[in-house]
Amino acid sequence: MSSLIKELYAILQEEPLSRKRLITGSYAQGHLWLERASREHGPVLHTESVTLEAWALGLAKLALAKRGLRYVSPAETKWIVCMLLEKQQTSGQSSYLRGLTLTPGLTDVIYEALLELRSCGIVADSLDPEAFESVDKGKFLRELLRQYESWLATNKLADWGGLAEAADDLAVRPDASMLIVAPDVLRSLADRKLMGKLSGGRYRVLEAEPSFLEPGDFPLAGLEFFHASGALAETREVMRRLLSNETALDEVEVIASDPVSGVLAVHTVMAAMELPCTFSDGLPIRATNAGKAALLYLDWLESGYQLAPMVTAFRQGVISLRDEQGEPISAARIIRELQQSGIGWGKERYMLLGKLAAVEGLAEERAACLLLLHRMFDGLLSPLDEGAFTSPDTMLRELLQFLDRHAVLPEEKDYEAVSRIRALQQNLQPAGAIRLRGNLGLRYVREAVESLRVAAEPLPKPGRLHVSSLGTGGQSGRSYTFITGMTEGCWSAAIRQNPVLLDAEKARLHPELPLSAADMERKIRSRNSRLGMIRGNCVMSYCSYDMAEQKEHMPAYELLHLYRRRSGERDADYARLHQAMGRMIAFAHSPSQTAADATELWTRALTGSHQTLRNGERLLHYAYPSLKKGKEAVSARTALSVSVYDGLVERGRHKEELPGDAGAGHAFSASMLERYGRCPLQYFFLYELGVQPNEEALYNRSQWLDASVRGSLLHGIFEQYLKVSILRDGGDDLDSLIQIAKTMIRAYEERVPAPSSAIVRKETASILNDVRIFYANEQKRGSKPVLTELRLHGDSVPLLVTFEGGWSLPLKGYVDRIDEIAPHRYKIYDYKTGNPNKFGGNECFAGGTQLQLPLYGLAAEQWMRQSGFDPEAEVVESSYLFPTEKGMGEEVSRPQSRRADLAALLQAITASMREGLFPPASDKKQCVWCDYRLVCGNHAELFAVKREAEQNAERLRFILEVSRYD
Ligand code: SF4
Repeated sequence: MSSLIKELYAILQEEPLSRKRLITGSYAQGHLWLERASREHGPVLHTESVTLEAWALGLAKLALAKRGLRYVSPAETKWIVCMLLEKQQTSGQSSYLRGLTLTPGLTDVIYEALLELRSCGIVADSLDPEAFESVDKGKFLRELLRQYESWLATNKLADWGGLAEAADDLAVRPDASMLIVAPDVLRSLADRKLMGKLSGGRYRVLEAEPSFLEPGDFPLAGLEFFHASGALAETREVMRRLLSNETALDEVEVIASDPVSGVLAVHTVMAAMELPCTFSDGLPIRATNAGKAALLYLDWLESGYQLAPMVTAFRQGVISLRDEQGEPISAARIIRELQQSGIGWGKERYMLLGKLAAVEGLAEERAACLLLLHRMFDGLLSPLDEGAFTSPDTMLRELLQFLDRHAVLPEEKDYEAVSRIRALQQNLQPAGAIRLRGNLGLRYVREAVESLRVAAEPLPKPGRLHVSSLGTGGQSGRSYTFITGMTEGCWSAAIRQNPVLLDAEKARLHPELPLSAADMERKIRSRNSRLGMIRGNCVMSYCSYDMAEQKEHMPAYELLHLYRRRSGERDADYARLHQAMGRMIAFAHSPSQTAADATELWTRALTGSHQTLRNGERLLHYAYPSLKKGKEAVSARTALSVSVYDGLVERGRHKEELPGDAGAGHAFSASMLERYGRCPLQYFFLYELGVQPNEEALYNRSQWLDASVRGSLLHGIFEQYLKVSILRDGGDDLDSLIQIAKTMIRAYEERVPAPSSAIVRKETASILNDVRIFYANEQKRGSKPVLTELRLHGDSVPLLVTFEGGWSLPLKGYVDRIDEIAPHRYKIYDYKTGNPNKFGGNECFAGGTQLQLPLYGLAAEQWMRQSGFDPEAEVVESSYLFPTEKGMGEEVSRPQSRRADLAALLQAITASMREGLFPPASDKKQCVWCDYRLVCGNHAELFAVKREAEQNAERLRFILEVSRYD
């Protein structure tokens, strides 16, 4: 039984029928004490629990209103001090602030100093600068105090210190109730002054509970200890002990010494087990969707608008984007568009989204998505001018706009998170406009947002485990208490002097100013006394080794002290304590017979006594059929026979839908067919399953245009030049070619912002060099183009290319250039901006990997005949052209004379597809740069043996035939 509760009950019984008020540090504390008093002793009547601030303001409210004054809370006065500090620094009045950055930490210590001075009734006129170690500092504090007093007076505001000073003048009738005050509530002179005035001097202060470290009623006999490898391991052990004792959740309080990681560990474990709990101090805001979205938005601003935080926010589903009809757009689509867009490393690059959305020929769905993204970022970026980062008010306003428009708020606590951020903005009001230097506005807002907590339920609830902290724990009166996270780091309290108001200066200024040692002692006394109220069973634990940080931790001294008292070993040291606690509890391993969850059950069942793994395959596969399928897949891949696990689709079960079968709009392109030739499995992933590789545009400080964008630009320049100069005027002209190149480079410069102008200049020179090489080669060429960038297909219909015997293939594609080399005889070209090496040799089809020129030659010929361009057209030659510095102007020819082989090869490919043959590449070099290599592993190597095996020849006959065409 708690002595404090006993005393409280005794006082309440002195006047059971009169009105009584219990003044405590928080409403919850008073409520818990009263509830405990009635549970342990008997009914408590006519008693109200109230905080000192709420009680005093309730009584003084009318008197303040009559004077036209409004009370301002510490959350508001802090911003007033911040604003005054910035003004002092900007005006250069204070030499003390010169050269200092007004970080949130510095503002905090100055604010604390000012509050302490005011809580002792010290006003600017009475503050002697000579009492300070540095007179400059004294003058600075005196001036700040003067400005603060003046700001409050001008704006008719009263803070706590001001309220205490004015108490004598306020016409307030003292509270006639019986007043009982909790220990440690009346801390400052201002507290005592207000208490005395508003109570008429009639109040009683309760005697503090003895510390849990001292002899008393703390349950020493049942005390247990353990140590674990991380906060999660520690919390899982708590759950094991509860499960093995069959303890009801509402008999338990967990006091998490670490207010962030300790609380989040309980939240994670309880959420995974779907068990309810209450958090006395709430959860860090990052545990909510709204909090995650807010912090990622601030990350985005801090990173200089890097795309990664926004992509993370979409990926985690904490923000979303809706179309005109209010329907959400899939996060996968948004992420793909953002990553491919090349935006995100600088504010100006986001303009690109609008330009990309307007690109001609873009699929409607993509254009709509890009347009929405453009609007989204335009809305976010427009208000963020240079000055925005200096103003906490603007930062908070824009953050709230972002949350309002884009945050996904599925739970009540998300709405609470938003309203808490909104309250932060309201706290700024009494300070007026605040302008801080550089991006300090952003830093202040981040600190303020990060410190917010939500979903606080200070009172334990039936059926729920109660989680408290070292600041609130020990009072619930529950019969089972766990104190977790008892490391030296969480429990040691270093004495920290306020650097702006040193102890020696306090002693000279006022006898009531609390010195740092005394203040720390008071805090420790208060915590230890509260923990002294614990009854029933108690288990203490700490994390002796943090796996994540790979760091050892020492236990708190209090743990050792209690071990000594509990065991009677008065000389026990840390090594003895460690030994007595036994083996460290791991995430899935504990001496307890009870498992925390199913994973642990399996781990235990499969782990032998010597930590060897037992063969539990049969049972495991029974419980987890997907694991069984995985095992079958691995075995099938290593076996000699081919199977569905080798990319062989059972066509009887899965519908075949090749282009041409799927409707008139579908067609093959040369690159699709070549992809099948290189690796049928890659074709399957991309075109049959629709698994798109991640094509994220990566920021490269030393490059403006990547190879593919540069290739498109060069293609565009060549095409434009041939169209303008050759096809229209009929003559070569280097000047006009260079002019076209420069104009197009400028257009790209607008669309693709560069890391620096020096890099643009360097790449421009290199592109112009390529252009000159192209021009020089054109001078040597005996033929002139008659068509460039010829589109073979129609708007919605492919070109049906017909082969000998009447077989046909639907095709789409572009031919870079067609030259007439003799009447009705043509040559087609395909520009390549890379290296010519891989196109060397005399191969025509290269095992089905090079089909473009033979196929487009036949297609172009049929197009020219069918369109009436030249009814007698014959494509007799074709070449890959390498008109750049890298390609040294080389030309690699492919014959147009093997049309029967082409037809047979294409028939083999399509037959192979119809047979459902999509095995891995025959050349494992294809895997080196493949986007799917992570899912394939060494599949190509394993399949090489099957490809050679006689037993598979019949099943693989079509694909084997494809690779025979050289
Ligand atoms: S990793 Fe190799 S086998 Fe797999 S899809 Fe890519 S190229 Fe084909």
